[in-house]
Parts: sequence; C-alpha cells; structure tokens
Amino acid sequence: MKVGCHVSISGGIDKAVDRAVNNGCTAFQIFSRNPRGWRAKTISKDESASFQEKVASSGISRDAICVHMPYLPNLAGPNEEPYKKSVNTLKGEVERCDQLGIQYLVTHLGSHLGVGAERGIKRLINAYTEASKIDSDVTILLENMAGQKNSMGYRFEEWAQILNQLEPKGRFGVCLDTCHAFVAGYDLRTQEAASQTLEEFDRIVGYDRLKILHLNDAKGELGCNLDRHYHIGLGSIGEEGLREVVRTINQQGIPIILETPIDNTRTDIDNIRAVKQFA
Ligand code: MN
Ligand code: MN
Ligand code: ZN
Repeated sequence: MKVGCHVSISGGIDKAVDRAVNNGCTAFQIFSRNPRGWRAKTISKDESASFQEKVASSGISRDAICVHMPYLPNLAGPNEEPYKKSVNTLKGEVERCDQLGIQYLVTHLGSHLGVGAERGIKRLINAYTEASKIDSDVTILLENMAGQKNSMGYRFEEWAQILNQLEPKGRFGVCLDTCHAFVAGYDLRTQEAASQTLEEFDRIVGYDRLKILHLNDAKGELGCNLDRHYHIGLGSIGEEGLREVVRTINQQGIPIILETPIDNTRTDIDNIRAVKQFA
C-alpha cells in the first residue's frame, strides 16, 4: 500500500525523506520551498543528490512522491502582473521537481476573480501549456477545489473540461482531494455515497488520470465550500465513507497522501495507521 502524509522540508529538502520514513510513509508530499512566498532559493546539486539517495534507500517508489505548488500563484487570474508571476512559479516548480527526480507536481486551479469561468479556463490552458514546454518528464496534476467564490474546477465536469484540453496528455493528470470534493457538494459519508461519488469521478474524469489521492476528512459540512481539513474519520465525512474511498483507491495502487492538521488531536503516524486499518 502506498500511503503517507505531507512532510516538512525544514532543515533541508532531504530531511523530508527522514521524516517520511520515521512516520512509516510509503508515499509523501513536500513543498519544494516556503509555500507562503514568491521567492525560492535554488536547489543545490548536493541537496538534490542527498534527497535522491535518501529516496532510493527508503524504498519509496517514485510514483508515490509529489511536490505541492506554493499558495500565492493563481493560474486562472485575469491580472497580467500576478498571472505572469504565477506562470513563472509553475514553470519553476516543474524544474525543481525535475532537479529532485520527483514525478508529480500538484497544482491548484485558482480563481477567475469574478471575470467568469470561461476566461479562467483560457488562462489555465495557457499556463499549463507554457509549463509543459519545459523539457522534463514531470507530470502536472490538477487538484479539484473546495468551491470557494470564483474558484475553478470544483465541479468534476469543469475539472475534466480543463484537463481534456491539455496536451501532451501524458504530461497531465489529476489529484483528487476528498475534503475538497465533499465541501464542494459530493457526498462521501456512507459507503453508498462514497462509491457513487467515485463512480461519478470515474465517469467524468477517469481513474486512468488519477495519480494521487489527497485523503482528508473535512471540518465543514457537505457543500459548505470551506477548505478546512480534519483528521481521518474524525470529521464531517467520517469513517464509513473514507474507508470505502481508501479501499477503492488502494485496489488501484494509487498513492494516498494525507494533508491532515498538525495539532494535539492526533499525530500523522496515527492518521496513517487509521488509513492502513481501513484498507
Ligand atoms: Mn492542494
Ligand atoms: Mn489537497
Ligand atoms: Zn485543502
């Protein structure tokens, strides 16, 4: 089973692998730099070599590791200056994944900021197309959103519509976030609801495009559009539905990565343990 969590790179990118191993992760996610700023320090040859050596000796497979884009970029926005910075950041992150030998880059679809989804989609297609011109085998993943005001791709149909316009096909895939889907209105609370939502996902987007599952419980209720993650089985989705999701996704060998809160309620290790028990 490929399961793990988001781990910190504090002290150096290679330290993330130590943390993943200590948590018993067989999959993990990192930020390649501070997610709250625009600037990124370049990755040194030593740092990249050390990261890749540690990954190799951890036994964690390459298709179970991803980088998450920083928070500031908005790839769907209408304003020229921030959009340019956002596209440059996306390209920079593709390069950083390539330097680290990381296969997947998870990206948010962003917000059209009121100018309408049609224009948002055009911006996204342009941004992703620019990034795909970088010579690498990094696969860019589009993550479904929670449905906050003006946000893009929280309905499976729009998400698929964007994905299906991207070329070359092999350079793009999706990351499904269970918290985001739930607060966007897709019920996952019971075995039946979860299997129906997954069937809908498969019909509209397709399991063949799903490379990473972000498994998060939700703080908010169904359809509330509030992006607040919670510990596995302890939130508004709960055990029954998440168990069904884990079983279905794990059967397909897709890596499961948690982005659950860091607080005193439960540790990452215990959240991962809960997921293993579901499987
Ligand atoms: Mn995300
Ligand atoms: Mn996520
Ligand atoms: Zn989220």
